[in-house]
Amino acid sequence: MLESRQSRQFQRCSRYGDYVSQDANCLFCRIVTGDIPADIVARTQTVLAFNDIDPQAPTHVLLVPIRHCANAAELAAQSPEVLAELFSVASDIAASRGITGYRTVFNTGAEAGQSVFHVHLHLIGGRSLAWPPG
Ligand code: AMP
Ligand code: ZN
Repeated sequence: MLESRQSRQFQRCSRYGDYVSQDANCLFCRIVTGDIPADIVARTQTVLAFNDIDPQAPTHVLLVPIRHCANAAELAAQSPEVLAELFSVASDIAASRGITGYRTVFNTGAEAGQSVFHVHLHLIGGRSLAWPPG
């Protein structure tokens, strides 16, 4: 039973050798597995951080759960400890770069600008940031 669940929902991670939830149609699942290259910044057991391909600031890192989840609302309901880990890793990255003021953003839903439906925390910093955002 577990095996068939694993073969349906999980695939052995090609680069990292552990099991991860993978949606073959999901860009960030494919980055997590190493099928699509990314500029990896950090990795924990539950979180992967990589540089945004179209950076909006000197530091623009995306932090994603290893396991697929569509948005922040679902992640909060299903795995609040992973939600906390995203912020914790973001804080560590900012601190390691000497960035004391930064922005962390989830876009939730297309109306808010979410374009990749694998939840990701934007870590943006390294320049002064205006408020309110557009
Ligand atoms: P959002 O609009 O909040 O869903 O953010 C999606 C982000 O993913 C954007 O900032 C994109 O620049 C970024 N992005 C898209 N494709 C890639 C990729 N292959 N590697 C890294 N970042 C990406
Ligand atoms: Zn995914």
